[in-house]
Amino acid sequence: MVHTEVICSRCGAAYPKGTLYLCPKCQGILTVQYDYSKTDLTRTTLQNRSDKTIWRYRDLLPCSEDAEEISLGEGGTPLHKATRLSAILGTNLMLKDESRNPTGSFKDRAISVAVTWAIEQGAKRLVSASSGNAAAVAAYSAKAGLDCFLLFDSKSPPTKHLQPLVYGAKGLSVKNLFTGTAEDLIELLYTLSQRLDAYNIFCWALINPYTLEGNKTIAYEICEACQWDAPDVVVVPVGGGDNLVAEWKGFKEMLELG
Ligand SMILES: [Zn+2]
Repeated sequence: MVHTEVICSRCGAAYPKGTLYLCPKCQGILTVQYDYSKTDLTRTTLQNRSDKTIWRYRDLLPCSEDAEEISLGEGGTPLHKATRLSAILGTNLMLKDESRNPTGSFKDRAISVAVTWAIEQGAKRLVSASSGNAAAVAAYSAKAGLDCFLLFDSKSPPTKHLQPLVYGAKGLSVKNLFTGTAEDLIELLYTLSQRLDAYNIFCWALINPYTLEGNKTIAYEICEACQWDAPDVVVVPVGGGDNLVAEWKGFKEMLELG
């Protein structure tokens, strides 16, 4: 394992790995750091790996070598050549189909890593907040045999809560969950995690820097699928923007590794 520490993206302060939440000094977002000189991950070693999930890049994920990964087969999604659209647009367009992940969302990548990491940190139950598609937290909790507590906004459609509840999560409806400040949400999740003796796995990079580590494998897969000739432009749909930052980190790391 080459994960070394977390560093504040605003002031540069370094903290021991496993530190969660914001930088205590300036409230900046923390980023997961690696010692790239200590990995033997190369184009050749990747060619010889049969694992098509995100765990084929285990060298650049934060979890220990001997940690049992909590996986439902996430990653390895197809990159389709959009031939007809490319002809219309006059470019070479490809589409990465993330709906092929186990719960139908790219978030499976983040949650697979985050749950594996949480168990390594001693988590016995998990708590998170969801607008709906963090159902992955419930699915991976079920896979790991951990209790999962999810906060939902009281105004979000009940149909969005169905998937996590089917996976066995315990849901709690909260008024104005996502309309307050980020600090309010952080405080609420922190308090709840303390009271329930649960690990806060909320997968938003502002709170959990390990969120990005699973999602960055999208960039790794694109590099591999394109025979290491990375696209000129990658268009990423955003809500909170985690996926965009994660893919930037993934491409940057691949560049650093050559
Ligand atoms: Zn800082």
